[in-house]
Amino acid sequence: MLFSSSGSTGVPRVFRYTHFDRKFWEQANARALYSGGLRKGDSAFPMVGFGPHVFAWGVQYTLATMGLPVIPGGGMDGKARASIIERFDPTVLVCTPSYALYLGRVMQEKGQDPARTSVRWITTGGEPFSGVEGTLERIQDLWGAKSLEFYGCTEASPHCGGYSCPEYQAGDEPFIHLMEDIQVWETVDPVTMQPVPENERGLTVCTNLNSESSPQLRFLVGDYTRLSAEPCACGRNHLRAMGCMTGRADDLVNLRGIKFFPVQIEEAVRAVPGTGDEFQIRLSTMDDGLDVMTVAVEHTDPTVAAAIAKEVRSRCEIRCEVEVLPPNTLPKTEMKAKRVRDMRGKA
Ligand SMILES: [Zn+2]
Repeated sequence: MLFSSSGSTGVPRVFRYTHFDRKFWEQANARALYSGGLRKGDSAFPMVGFGPHVFAWGVQYTLATMGLPVIPGGGMDGKARASIIERFDPTVLVCTPSYALYLGRVMQEKGQDPARTSVRWITTGGEPFSGVEGTLERIQDLWGAKSLEFYGCTEASPHCGGYSCPEYQAGDEPFIHLMEDIQVWETVDPVTMQPVPENERGLTVCTNLNSESSPQLRFLVGDYTRLSAEPCACGRNHLRAMGCMTGRADDLVNLRGIKFFPVQIEEAVRAVPGTGDEFQIRLSTMDDGLDVMTVAVEHTDPTVAAAIAKEVRSRCEIRCEVEVLPPNTLPKTEMKAKRVRDMRGKA
């Protein structure tokens, strides 16, 4: 099969996976799903388009290997998916975190309570999730369900390289379990590219050990994280990516020399009660040549602007304008959120 990477900049890069690769892929993903608590008796509803992205296909093959029933959920809108959940009681949703939020709101508008459905697991991929403070809680509360995040990169697969811990408790530092028996993970300094010691922040580098079609030797994945060899409370003793993966180096926003990730703005927005699910980060250039950032949020109370600006300042050490819009005015994200609008240097 042919897949392309979901990198946020540039032309997608294309990778082939052979049938041999798929067998390993199924085993690695099955380990992640089983660790998360999926067992016989569960049934899954993948709400994905089945395009050239590894996440959906990887989960699909794995569910078949595990012998779990699947309701294919591609090619339908939120209302149709909501009625499938009502009629057939799937226990597992497979989607991006943005979509879990979107569908939950669609159900609420129809007068349904997502937390009272059969859904007990939300399996996510494609966007940072477990490490984004506020978003994880928002989705878990909305659905009354646990979440299981798949982490991987198309380039150094074929596998989901990591997964969130089933024993994770709210309030702990979030992290991702890596699979060291199928991939070797390292972190390097972003400037010198030299390995950094354990527990120091660096960019991820991955060597995969059993790919037939795409063997990679020290491939620079480029997610920022800290690796820890401390065994987890759950008993697993492979490396952990502490703080999760907060974003690829190419997602990093550089505003007047201050660097931050879009997920840091997301955390700031989520920290203020009552803000809507959607927000936008707008970067523009003033007449005097100064680059500025405006964060657009939805809230019923326009006076929350100051509180959000303060949260942004404390997390990113940067001043921003905050535009407060009435609820339901920003475009709704369905699949993968595109939060940053960079109009710097444009009239
Ligand atoms: Zn664990």
